Amino acid sequence: MPVGWRRAGGARLRFWALLALKLAAIAAVTAGVWLAIETVLPPHPGGLLSGSPRLGVDLTYTLAVFCLGLAAAALLGLCAWDQRYRCRTCARRLRMPVAEGVLSSVMLGGVPHTEYICTFGHGKLYVPDVHTTYRPAKWTRYPTLWDDLMRAEALAHQRH
Ligand SMILES: [Zn+2]
Repeated sequence: MPVGWRRAGGARLRFWALLALKLAAIAAVTAGVWLAIETVLPPHPGGLLSGSPRLGVDLTYTLAVFCLGLAAAALLGLCAWDQRYRCRTCARRLRMPVAEGVLSSVMLGGVPHTEYICTFGHGKLYVPDVHTTYRPAKWTRYPTLWDDLMRAEALAHQRH
């Protein structure tokens, strides 16, 4: 297996590993806050109410669980937003946004969009400024320096 392929495959895992790490951190924080809610709030009433559900009856508990769910959803949204603007190969933040196209001249200049690049040359992300279903954001991978070198070496061998 050429060196470049191994490097690209291993680096590509970095994107998914970062996502898994962030999701695990969100799950851990949510579980920790859940445990804190369970310990801080007064215990479930006993006696006749011992079998009744706590959620929806106990106002403090219900509010705490609602806020925790809201915070967890916000964290997941932030995680997805952050992951969207990361390089699919090395998981670094995409940089240098370039806006192209103008809404007043769509026929001439194309649909307005913004392109972000990985500063290490792994690819670019096309993000349309007008949100339509037929033109979603698209990642375009550039071949690595190793791919170029391997291709040049193969061409050199063919000529001799
Ligand atoms: Zn990259």
